[in-house]
Amino acid sequence: MRPIGIFGGTFDPIHYGHLRSAFEMLQALRFEEVRFMPCGDPPHRGATFADAELRFRMVDVAIAGQDGFVIDDRELRRNGPSYSIDTLIQLRGEFPDRSLGLILGMDAFLGLHRWRRWDEILEYAHIVVAHRPGWKAPDIGPLGELLSENGTHRVDDLHTTTHGRIHIHAVTQLEISSTEIRDLVAAGRDPRFLMPDAVRNVIEESGIYMRDAHEQ
Ligand code: ATP
Repeated sequence: MRPIGIFGGTFDPIHYGHLRSAFEMLQALRFEEVRFMPCGDPPHRGATFADAELRFRMVDVAIAGQDGFVIDDRELRRNGPSYSIDTLIQLRGEFPDRSLGLILGMDAFLGLHRWRRWDEILEYAHIVVAHRPGWKAPDIGPLGELLSENGTHRVDDLHTTTHGRIHIHAVTQLEISSTEIRDLVAAGRDPRFLMPDAVRNVIEESGIYMRDAHEQ
C-alpha cells in the first residue's frame, strides 16, 4: 500500500509553492494521497490572519479536481493548540499498517526540535522534507543527528516501512511565501499567478489581508 502524505500548514493563504511541492511529492514519491491539513491554533506563531473557515475554504478550492489531493480538517476542529504529534498518533490509530509521511518544507524541518515531543514523531511517521530556496539541510545539532541516523535517499524505504525515515526531496524551487502574499495584498497589489485563481477570488471577495495585514 502506498504512503499517505500529510501536509500541514497555516495556509494563510495557500499558494503555488505549497501546491507544486505537494504535487511533485505525490508523483515522485508515489504517494496514495496528500492530505492538506490546515492547522487550528498554531503553537509556534501568532494568531493567523484568515480564520479557520477561510483558510479551509482557500485550501478546498485550491485542490479541487486534483486526484490524490484531499483536505483533512481535524486540526481545525480540535480545540486548543494544534500539535502534530497528536495528529500523527490519531492517524496511526486509523491507519495502523500504512506508511505515513509528514511533509515539511526545509524551513519547517529546521525548527522541528522546538515542536512538542518532536523526538517521537518518527515513531509514528516518516518525515519528507521539501527543499526550499535559501535553506540548507542541518548537519550538526539535534536535527543533524536525527538526519544522519534516519535519513534515506531511497524512495522505496518510504513504501516498505510505515515510519521512521527522513527523506529529503528536491522540488521545483518557487520562492513564494504566504507572508509576501499578505504584504502584497495589503499594499493593494494583485497576487495573481502566485496561486490558483479560485484562491485569489476568495481573497478578493472576503477582503482578507487588505485590512487585517495593515492592522497587525
Ligand atoms: P508564512 O509566510 O506565513 O510563514 P508559508 O508560505 O511558509 O507561510 P505555511 O503554511 O507556513 O506557508 O507552510 C506550510 C508548509 O509548506 C511548511 O512546511 C513550509 O515549509 C512549506 N512551504 C511553504 N512555502 C513553500 C514553498 N514556496 N516551497 C516549498 N515548501 C513551502
